[in-house]
Amino acid sequence: METSPAGTTFSPILQLEGVTRSFRQGEREIVVLTGVDAVLWPGQAVALVGPSGAGKSTLLHITGLLESPTSGRIFLNGKDCATLSEAQRTRLRRKEIGFVYQFHQLLPEFSALENVVLPQMILGRGRKAAEARALSLLGGLGLAERAHHRPAELSGGEQQRAAICRGLANSPRLLLADEPTGNLDPHTSEYVFRELVELIRRQGVAALIATHNLELARRMDRVLQVHEGRLVELAPASIRR
Ligand code: ADP
Ligand code: MG
Repeated sequence: METSPAGTTFSPILQLEGVTRSFRQGEREIVVLTGVDAVLWPGQAVALVGPSGAGKSTLLHITGLLESPTSGRIFLNGKDCATLSEAQRTRLRRKEIGFVYQFHQLLPEFSALENVVLPQMILGRGRKAAEARALSLLGGLGLAERAHHRPAELSGGEQQRAAICRGLANSPRLLLADEPTGNLDPHTSEYVFRELVELIRRQGVAALIATHNLELARRMDRVLQVHEGRLVELAPASIRR
């Protein structure tokens, strides 16, 4: 238990301790992350910035338990992920972590609704309850009328909004998004981003959102920059346009 920014004691959703990651590229060993520490609290929308190749996606994959760090520890809801079995880790990932990618990655042969229903049914929720939750999420992002359409029949902004609904389907405590609006035109990007941040605050999840867009980043609760393999906290207001 630590003292949160508000001074109350509730537990952080995510703690990273000394996370390092290196890759072998041919003869060379490249070190992408070198001792990343971070704490994320519920209800915080946190931007992850840094130039292309800085290690944002790598950090998101490690945080999302999709990849292992070379060394260092990841605590989700206070649980040290290294102590979990493979099966426990998979379940924790499905239940507690939502992922949104730059390209929606929705299943093309299923409707938007089914794309939000399926992850819930994998965790054992009945179809009726899963559909009710999916419709409520889709409706909340203005997709009630589009729920029965397949991804190819949706606009780019609608696809990303459906992907956000899928990411939140199992009420995760942590939402990870890798340039979720990077593929959209500026106007749609702005709209989707605003909806995303609003949803994060309303649902009390913590979110780590990689973005190139500093104009969007500066409006979030916190901004973390990947700089020379570490995370540097920036004051959102100090970010120049
Ligand atoms: P960003 O998302 O900030 O653009 P990435 O995390 O994708 O950065 O990549 C950071 C660095 O790690 C890059 O130099 C990239 O080439 C390298 N990298 C990422 N994944 C791999 C991998 N699977 N194998 C080898 N190198 C990788
Ligand atoms: Mg990336």
